[in-house]
Amino acid sequence: MNYLEAVPPAERSAVVDLAAIRHNVRHLAEIARPARLMAVVKADAYGHGALEVARAALEAGAGWLGVAHISEALALRTGGISAPLLAWLHTADSDFAAAVAANIDIGVSGWELEAVVAAARELEVPARVHLKIDTGLGRNGCPEDLWETFVGRALAYQEDGLLRVVGIFSHLAVADEPHRAETDVQLQKFRDAVAVAEDAGVDHEVRHIANTPAVLSRPDSHFDLVRVGLGMYGLSPFAGQSAAELGLRPAMTLKTTIANCKAVPAGQGVSYGLHYQTPEPTTLALVPLGYADGIPRVATGGPVMVDGEVFPVVGRIAMDQMVIDLGRTGIAGTPASFIGKEAILFGGEGAPQVEEWAQAAGSINYEIITRISGRVTRSYVDTHTGGADAEDTDKSGADAGIAAGSAAVLP
Ligand SMILES: *Cc1c(COP(=O)(O)O)cnc(C)c1O
Repeated sequence: MNYLEAVPPAERSAVVDLAAIRHNVRHLAEIARPARLMAVVKADAYGHGALEVARAALEAGAGWLGVAHISEALALRTGGISAPLLAWLHTADSDFAAAVAANIDIGVSGWELEAVVAAARELEVPARVHLKIDTGLGRNGCPEDLWETFVGRALAYQEDGLLRVVGIFSHLAVADEPHRAETDVQLQKFRDAVAVAEDAGVDHEVRHIANTPAVLSRPDSHFDLVRVGLGMYGLSPFAGQSAAELGLRPAMTLKTTIANCKAVPAGQGVSYGLHYQTPEPTTLALVPLGYADGIPRVATGGPVMVDGEVFPVVGRIAMDQMVIDLGRTGIAGTPASFIGKEAILFGGEGAPQVEEWAQAAGSINYEIITRISGRVTRSYVDTHTGGADAEDTDKSGADAGIAAGSAAVLP
């Protein structure tokens, strides 16, 4: 199926605007220039669909793709993606041989080096590796005191023709809080680690440490390549700054239609536990999305837009459904007239934002979009609204690392 082919209207869908993805990639790439942009499409592109987003990002000028797991990278290769592709999180069961065979770059923090070399030896194909230094996040990455030894081992393998050190990288801990000094410390440690590697003889292609918040707030973190996830999906990594203020366009709209609607008296309990009781006679509408669809169970109070008005979810969110109280704003219409009406949880003009759901759930926008489950249909639109977006059509497809033939565009 052509990825831009129209999907029939789904009963519950996450609609992804590929023009928004391309706009965000171009906008962030412009900010990062002359550094290149790696589109991070792990976790099924934060719930947006890895293949579709990868293609759109490459069309818009991303030079690299990034994922956590080799399995995610292999799925992209199977889908026809030939662009440079990095996977950085592995287990003893990760298929390093498949990665080397599929020309997937492998991020290594320590033990993986030997596993990767074993695969390269077996295949008689040199592996492409990026050495990761822990500059302070305390998760993956080689500890500072072992770095020089680690680099030395990698270089020895490189001399044996078993691998090529393509990159040196690290990850930031507090880039979403630009005032914090730890980022300065991390960047200094990164520069030091790069210097150690260069002195030892590493001739890297790319140094990379910046995620979305660092791209936006720390030009001194850009180096040769930036790894962009959240911003590409059009969301803000900063508590005090909206996506619009950052020039980003949210790509996902989560919507469904009202499944039922009825008039109820005062004192009607709503959903499991009966924690909500209608304060007065009112109209309740049933929204067929629940925690099995990825809506956090704790997010009671989250906003749902119907007919341009926003209603909070009342009572517990259940596995498949949740309830909004239409009476609260005195909305017009008979209960029957609401059945089948569009209900938007987030995304799109004037609609609630992902951040409001994050707040209702005590979480962050990253988690809300990423956890939308496979039970919700993904569909794709390509909004060419003219003006600033007219460029979206013009640059499509040019020398992107994908197969040709994506000319079909939805209205
Ligand atoms: C997920 C991830 C990113 C992307 O982070 P955003 O804040 O979404 O831009 C970058 N680098 C690594 C190592 C990651 O795990």
